[in-house]
Amino acid sequence: MIKFLPIKEQGALVSNSIRKHKIVIVGGGAAGLELATSLGRKLGKKGLAEIILLDATTTHIWKPLLHEVAAGTLDEAEQVDYLAQAYRNHFRFRLGKMEGLNRQKKEIYASPTFNESGEQIIPRRTFSYDTLVMAIGSVSNTFGIKGVEENCFFLDTTSQAFRFQKHMVESYIKSIAANETELKSLSIAIVGGGATGVELSAELHEVTDMLAVYGLEQSSNVKLTIIEASPQLLPALPAKLALATQNQLAKLEIDLKLGCRVVEITKEVIKTLDGEMIPAEIKVWAAGIKAADWVNRLDGLETNQINQLIVDETLKTSDDDIFAIGDCAACPWPGHKGNVPPRAQAAHQQAATLCKTILNRLNGQAPVKYDYKDYGSLVALGKYSTVGNLMGNLMGSVTIGGFIARVVYLSLYKMHQVAIHGYYRTALLTLSNLFRRSAHAKIKMH
Ligand SMILES: Cc1cc2nc3c(=O)[nH]c(=O)nc-3n(C[C@H](O)[C@H](O)[C@H](O)COP(=O)(O)OP(=O)(O)OC[C@H]3O[C@@H](n4cnc5c(N)ncnc54)[C@H](O)[C@@H]3O)c2cc1C
Repeated sequence: MIKFLPIKEQGALVSNSIRKHKIVIVGGGAAGLELATSLGRKLGKKGLAEIILLDATTTHIWKPLLHEVAAGTLDEAEQVDYLAQAYRNHFRFRLGKMEGLNRQKKEIYASPTFNESGEQIIPRRTFSYDTLVMAIGSVSNTFGIKGVEENCFFLDTTSQAFRFQKHMVESYIKSIAANETELKSLSIAIVGGGATGVELSAELHEVTDMLAVYGLEQSSNVKLTIIEASPQLLPALPAKLALATQNQLAKLEIDLKLGCRVVEITKEVIKTLDGEMIPAEIKVWAAGIKAADWVNRLDGLETNQINQLIVDETLKTSDDDIFAIGDCAACPWPGHKGNVPPRAQAAHQQAATLCKTILNRLNGQAPVKYDYKDYGSLVALGKYSTVGNLMGNLMGSVTIGGFIARVVYLSLYKMHQVAIHGYYRTALLTLSNLFRRSAHAKIKMH
C-alpha cells in the first residue's frame, strides 16, 4: 500500500515545486461533482492536491430531473457549467469520455472528442493519477431484449432527454395537425414502472394538460401507458406507497399494465410474453440499470453481473488506489439482501464519506466506513401529487403525501445544490428560478 506524506509536509513540498498528489474523478454527476467540489474547497484551495474532474459533457443536470428535461418542463438555468464550477471551487475540469485504464502505469485514457459536425476537437488523451475515483453513473439495462436499442428512447443522459423532448414536441405538432381532419391519438408507452417511468408519465400528463390550456386542445388526446414486469408498480418500494401511486395514476387515466413482461419491441408495437401487442408511437425504456459495458473490461477491476465495480465498505475497489461511488459501485449494505440501491441519496452520502477518506488517506490515516442511511423514497407525480415514505430511527417507515412529501422531495435536490453551490448561492438560485418561472413559459416547445 502506498504511503502518502501528511498534508502539512505536502504543503512544504508544494512550495518546493514537487508534484502534488493527483486525484482524478471520472464523472461529474450526483456523486462525482459533489466530491470534486468538496475536495476542491478542502485541498485544491490550499494547494494541497491537484483535483481533476473528467466528464463526457460540458454541463451537469442532476439526473433525477431528467424526466423534467424530457417533458420540457425543466428550467434550463438548472444546468451547471463544469468549467465555472471548477473555477469557483478550486479543481480542474477536463472534457472527455473515459475508455480505458492501466493500473500498472496509473493512467486513464479518454477517447477523442468530436463536435456536432464530426470534427475532432480534442485528441485521445491520457491522465495520470495517484487516487482515481470512478463516478460514471449507470445506463439503462435492456437485458438483451430484441428491438429495444433500435426502437426506444432512453433517459440516461441529458442529450437523450433533450432528444426525446424534441421528438415528442414534433409528434404533438404532427398529431395535432392530423387531428384537423381525422381524430387520431398519440400513444406513448413507458417500459418500467419504477420511479423514473412513473415520474415521467405524470410529467408528460401535466404537459398535455398545459398544452390544452395554451389552446392546443387536441393534445389531451395523448394516451400514456406504463408497462411493468412485476405485479406491483414501483417494485422496489413498499406496497402501500405503490398502491397510493397506482390510484393517483388511475385518476389521470394513465394505463397501467402490471405483470407484463416485454419480449420484443418493433417500430410499431411492444410484444409481451403473454402475446399482447401494445401499439405505441413513442416508446421509452426505463426498466432497470447497469454500469456501462466497458467497465467490465477495466484492467481486471472486479465487477458484478451488471458491470458495477465491486467496492468494500470503504468504497475501495479491488485496487488500493481506485474508489467507486454512485450508481457504478456495487457497495455492500450490511443487514440487507442486496447492495446499496442506485439512488441520488446514496450518491450524495458516498461523496461525503469518500471526501473524508481521501483527506485521511493524504494524512496517512484510516479510511472511513460507509454506512448507507435510507431516509426513504419519494415519487413526484408532476403538479398532481408527491407520495413517499420516510425512514427514521424512532418512527420506522412513515408514508407521507401531498405538500409535506413535495417539500421533502424538493429538499433532496436542495441538498445537492447546497453541496455544490453552498447555502448562499443556492438561496440566490432558488429565488432567481422562482422569478424566471413566473415570467417564462412553463414548457419548452422547441
Ligand atoms: C429520470 C430519473 C429520475 C430519478 N429520480 C430519482 C429520485 O427521485 N431519487 C433518487 O434518489 N434517485 C433518482 N434517480 C437515480 C439517480 O439519478 C442516480 O442514482 C444518481 O444520479 C447517481 O449518481 P451518479 O453520480 O452515480 O451518476 P450520474 O448522476 O448519472 O452521473 C454520472 C456522470 O458520469 C458522466 N460519465 C458517464 N460516463 C462517462 C465516461 N465514460 N467518461 C466521463 N464521464 C462519464 C456522465 O456524463 C455524468 O455526468 C433517478 C434517475 C433517473 C434517470
